[in-house]
Amino acid sequence: METYKTTAKNFKVFARHIKKWQKKMGLTGWSIFVSHKDDDKDAEEDCAWVQSDYQTMVASITLAVTWPIAPTDKLLDLTAFHECRHLVTAPLMMLIPEPLQEIACQEEHRLIISEERLLFGKALSEYGDADNQENNPLTSKRL
Ligand SMILES: [Zn+2]
Repeated sequence: METYKTTAKNFKVFARHIKKWQKKMGLTGWSIFVSHKDDDKDAEEDCAWVQSDYQTMVASITLAVTWPIAPTDKLLDLTAFHECRHLVTAPLMMLIPEPLQEIACQEEHRLIISEERLLFGKALSEYGDADNQENNPLTSKRL
């Protein structure tokens, strides 16, 4: 499968969008650290991911270097929205007991995807090869 690389300029744009969504979503209590690298442990090709600690209100959002689709400013914006949106529900997700975590995660994703459609007209999972959604890595679980 063809892959693409996000550039230093893409990262700058992404970081700017993170700041914008942090403000818009009222996430000002969070310290958000943004980085740009691939996750070598993660075989899935996620565009970005977030790790957060509600106790300390520290989050790290990583933009993947390798993308399964061509990065555009709109996709960088959408991806920044997606990761920041996880922080909105992070305190709520903390309350979910372990056996229900996986299903709660799936439901959280469904919610975020419908919000993506409202805001961007299309969800991130709908970009890429429209004829081959089954093999679209973006339709698989993203964190
Ligand atoms: Zn996600």
